[in-house]
Amino acid sequence: MSIKYVCNECGQKYDIKTLLFKCNCGGLLNLNKTDFKFSMEDIIKNKWSLFRYLKALPFDNKFNMWTDITMGEGLTPIVPLDKNYPNLLVKMEYLMPTLSFKDRGAVIVIAKAKELGVKKVIQDSSGNAGTSIAAYANRAGIECDIYVPENTSPKKVKQISAHGAKVHLIKGTREDTAQAALNAVEKGEGFYASHVYNPFFYEGTKTYVYEVFEQLDGNLPEVFIIPVGNGTLLLGAYYGFKELLQLGLIKKIPRIIAVQAQNCAPIYKAFKIGKDNVDKVTNTGTLAEGIAIAEPKRGAQILEAIRETEGEIITAHEDKIFETRTYLAQRGFYVEPTTAATFAAFFDFYEENKSKLGGKVIIPLCGAGLKAD
Ligand SMILES: *Cc1c(COP(=O)(O)O)cnc(C)c1O
Ligand SMILES: [Zn+2]
Repeated sequence: MSIKYVCNECGQKYDIKTLLFKCNCGGLLNLNKTDFKFSMEDIIKNKWSLFRYLKALPFDNKFNMWTDITMGEGLTPIVPLDKNYPNLLVKMEYLMPTLSFKDRGAVIVIAKAKELGVKKVIQDSSGNAGTSIAAYANRAGIECDIYVPENTSPKKVKQISAHGAKVHLIKGTREDTAQAALNAVEKGEGFYASHVYNPFFYEGTKTYVYEVFEQLDGNLPEVFIIPVGNGTLLLGAYYGFKELLQLGLIKKIPRIIAVQAQNCAPIYKAFKIGKDNVDKVTNTGTLAEGIAIAEPKRGAQILEAIRETEGEIITAHEDKIFETRTYLAQRGFYVEPTTAATFAAFFDFYEENKSKLGGKVIIPLCGAGLKAD
């Protein structure tokens, strides 16, 4: 396949070798792929990682650097939650090398950076994406600087520096952290391996859907519940659906029901009043740090994805997060608060919409409990 960057605003195309992180007009970049073909027969059955879908990934067939970078990410089990929710499946995304689903995106971004000859990457994160980029960058022999807010869980900060990255603790909001990283990128300090800006990240997260498709013998659940902060899993899933549809592997795109934290819900707000773009809100404090994004850069794309799938957006009540974490732990799943928030929102929604939820529902367990206190 051949790939170019394409601006989300003005449609300008760029060679990916330019290493640009945004368009000259300021717009965010997506990927434009031509000659994209993939069928079930193309799955490399003896590769036990998301690279079994190599033919659907943004590399050419001769590309083999990934073999030194992969840590077996992906291929997470799908299991029922418990008898109270007979149609609910959970996907064990925290069973990844760095304990969150971000490894799906990070392995692709770093493999691409390696292919492009990048020597240093820069990234900002509320924790998990930074950990993931740090781990893969180090493994690939690429220098790495990670910017995180000062109040990030100490365990995540420790994990990032353990992987050899330089950690920059930034005062202020999550947005101040993003700005600090951007400043470094603009000064030419390195390639922006951002899970928000860098569209290769979504090529990794789309494998969430490819996997569900393969694991459930081609029967995607009717509803995908997906937590959303910056939308890296949500947009990846949406692109995955669109590709499967375009390839003729599915007939209909499942509904995406996105979850935000009640105390930081800019996309929810925009969705409810029917706006096409997302206004910044103030984060009034939430345990769900992984989705506490007050100003999501790809807000308009996220809204479009939810609307296109006839989806919905729901919020997690702050006072339910803690008890839901305990509920999940008592079923064997020890997750971080952000993941508990996803379930808290779903359980409330389920009570009111049981009768309308016809088929199967799938929820990712995005982050491991050991990452938080
Ligand atoms: C990153 C993350 C999310 C949300 O992902 P976005 O890309 O910000 O939408 C949810 N849960 C966990 C555990 C995460 O690490
Ligand atoms: Zn542009």
